[in-house]
Amino acid sequence: MKKNLLGYDKCELVELALGMGEKSFRGTQLYRQIYRKKALDVEQMTDLSGEFRRRLSFQCAVKYPALVRLTKARDATVKLLFELSDNRFVETVYIPEDGRDTLCISSQVGCDVGCTFCMTAQMGFQRNLKAGEIVGQVLSAIQRGMVRERGFNIVFMGMGEPLLNYQNVMKAFRIFIDQEGMGLSHRKITVSTSGVVPVLKKMKEEEVLPNLAISLNATTNELRDQIMPINRKWNIEELLDTCREFPLDSRRRITFEYVLLAGLNDSDEDARRLTRLLRGIHSKLNLIPYNVNPGLPFRRPSEARVERFQSILLENRVSAFVRKTRGDDVAAACGQLAYREVHA
Ligand code: SAH
Ligand code: SF4
Repeated sequence: MKKNLLGYDKCELVELALGMGEKSFRGTQLYRQIYRKKALDVEQMTDLSGEFRRRLSFQCAVKYPALVRLTKARDATVKLLFELSDNRFVETVYIPEDGRDTLCISSQVGCDVGCTFCMTAQMGFQRNLKAGEIVGQVLSAIQRGMVRERGFNIVFMGMGEPLLNYQNVMKAFRIFIDQEGMGLSHRKITVSTSGVVPVLKKMKEEEVLPNLAISLNATTNELRDQIMPINRKWNIEELLDTCREFPLDSRRRITFEYVLLAGLNDSDEDARRLTRLLRGIHSKLNLIPYNVNPGLPFRRPSEARVERFQSILLENRVSAFVRKTRGDDVAAACGQLAYREVHA
């Protein structure tokens, strides 16, 4: 079996080159070839010597996750299904929009945070994605011409809890933003979390940070304990205190996500409590009307209810947006990703 170099960072490629008796700059060349030039074949890396290429191609390859299905929704959202080397599957969603295309990528196969409204939780947890499998979702979309090489947004809002796979997520993030790597802007990359407080605290140590989105989804600990079991470990107050201390550059805001569940968290009183909770945090709020999942007992509020909820927030000067549902006819909308292989 050849080593798959996808996911190796610059240091690891330099080490690999040195280990093969080459100079260290050969490792940097390899890094640029893989992530900047997007070479898929060692033979294409013509800036390396022919002799090094030959030896390299015996031992190593650059392999993207295998794209096994592509499903297009009526609104042009595309769901990509990838098969990983151990025959597990992950989904990525491409959301086209004038001037700001978005790729919604996965960080784990399944998720064990167990939010009761989310379809990914129903899969349980299978494993963490490696950095190469995270970067590979984006490189595949570029290779297929879905997004240009730069200028699109990446959101870690697919399957999985990114902060429970922190090392691989941050390794992928560094490759995304490195000028010799993929050269993307850190301002266009967002990590969304259910609120893993100790990891949020540790993020302060990073040199460059992605945007942060927090899935709040309730205004009382009583309800949040029920629908997001992680709240029993780190409750709303601890989570919001950690957000207050989160280092942001002056132009950035923390995004809060709030899934609107009919009859549970969508009352006028909830909207008022939400206003109070967010006070003093430089933030914006995305309201996500619930995307219905088969077998789960939650409902989406009426449009009038969503509007009323938003208007209370706006009156209280919270920047609240209602997120448009995208791709729900192919189960590509928020919280609907849960691929299960059906054995014949
Ligand atoms: N694990 C991370 C990122 C993936 S979930 C997190 O929880 O933040 C991405 C977003 O989808 C979260 O804000 C989550 O609350 C939301 N979500 C989950 N299920 C949903 C559903 N059925 N309808 C609408 N949003 C949902
Ligand atoms: Fe995991 Fe996020 Fe789904 Fe919760 S909402 S189960 S954290 S993927």
